[in-house]
Amino acid sequence: MDFELSPELSELQASVRRLAQDKVKPRARAIDAGSEYPDDIFAAFRDAGLLGLCLPEDVGGSGAGIFGLSLAIEEVAKYSNTAALMLLLTRLPTGPVMIAGSEEQKQRYLPGVADGSQRAAFGLSEAQAGSDVMGMRTRATADPGSPGGWVLNGTKCWMSGVREADWYTVFAKTSDPASRTHDSVTAFIVERAWPGVAVGRIDHKMGVRGVDTGELVLSDVHVPAENVIGEIGGFRLAMLGLNSMRPVVAARGIGLAEGALMYATEYVQQRAAFNQTIADFQGIQWEIAKCAVDIEAARLLTYRAAWLADRGKFTKEWVPYLSVAKYHATELAVRASGLAVQLLGAAGYMEEHPTEQWYRDAKQLTIVEGTSQVQLGLIARGVLDRDLWWD
Ligand SMILES: Cc1cc2nc3c(=O)[nH]c(=O)nc-3n(C[C@H](O)[C@H](O)[C@H](O)COP(=O)(O)OP(=O)(O)OC[C@H]3O[C@@H](n4cnc5c(N)ncnc54)[C@H](O)[C@@H]3O)c2cc1C
Repeated sequence: MDFELSPELSELQASVRRLAQDKVKPRARAIDAGSEYPDDIFAAFRDAGLLGLCLPEDVGGSGAGIFGLSLAIEEVAKYSNTAALMLLLTRLPTGPVMIAGSEEQKQRYLPGVADGSQRAAFGLSEAQAGSDVMGMRTRATADPGSPGGWVLNGTKCWMSGVREADWYTVFAKTSDPASRTHDSVTAFIVERAWPGVAVGRIDHKMGVRGVDTGELVLSDVHVPAENVIGEIGGFRLAMLGLNSMRPVVAARGIGLAEGALMYATEYVQQRAAFNQTIADFQGIQWEIAKCAVDIEAARLLTYRAAWLADRGKFTKEWVPYLSVAKYHATELAVRASGLAVQLLGAAGYMEEHPTEQWYRDAKQLTIVEGTSQVQLGLIARGVLDRDLWWD
């Protein structure tokens, strides 16, 4: 066991820390206020080579893996969870392609993500099917005019980055839409420019503003056989992709918590009350200490989860180890941002401080990519099945 980062990862952490302080921190409030996609931040990530962190070198990535991506996201999320989401989106839609895609798909779709000339998004959820993935109704029917091809119809919703994406990883039912058997779902690569592909309603969000969330409407979209990802029957692929993402989402939570606690700590050390600073009160110190304990625990869980994911350990038996990181780190983000607002008092509630933004942003993390309740279900299943067991 080794708790030290490799020299390469240490260097990555240090360089992203500088970039986050120089470029992301000064822009975070304006991105939130304007809700506009921050092209300048995307360009900064591209120029720093961060868009290909988790992609393999043979498609133009840097091969830093889930661990490298998680470290970068932790740094960026200290200031902006929108910017952190932009980095996350280099992995969420590309994950299924890396896990089960053909060599041709990898060479065709991944280099553009790595060099920033293309963006991608991930379409699993539908209005009636969030946690209940098998409730999806987007339908894929065999295309009579194209051997092995499919015709897609349906509407995906709450899709992050839907407007900016050039291509989408979309899941659809290849058999009866009412079917709940896992082999009835398949993954496809769908290009934005194809006929029948349209961006629908864009959501007005409570937080993580600046990267759109909205609908992808598919109307008689012809998908050639070569754009089917993996086998027909891809529910397991959806789950593998999401399992491997747990540390990446968790990293958004730990970064946010670290940013919020550091900010609040600096504030209470200079805020005078009762002839001393607020930081002199034991009641305040203990809140800071408890949050610091929480952050360190979440970091260890997240780093372990990233380490596992990079070793291909995201199949069923590893699920509880991945889910404990996502659950703990994202719930921590909610607690830590709430604490930060509280420690600043009225000032923390006002727009002059970033605390109110962290508070709004944090809540997204306990909902996306498997809610906290879904994670608890997975962790419990892991214990009941003895995947998470201690003898
Ligand atoms: C900002 C944002 C961005 C998103 N981006 C994407 C994206 O890019 N791509 C995409 O596909 N989706 C995306 N989503 C959708 C997200 O993945 C879903 O919201 C999530 O899976 C939860 O589904 P739901 O909202 O339908 O909630 P529901 O499934 O309706 O859940 C509602 C409540 O019931 C609880 N619940 C549900 N099932 C159970 C159970 N079995 N046991 C106990 N409690 C349960 C949930 O925990 C939750 O508290 C995004 C959502 C948000 C908010």
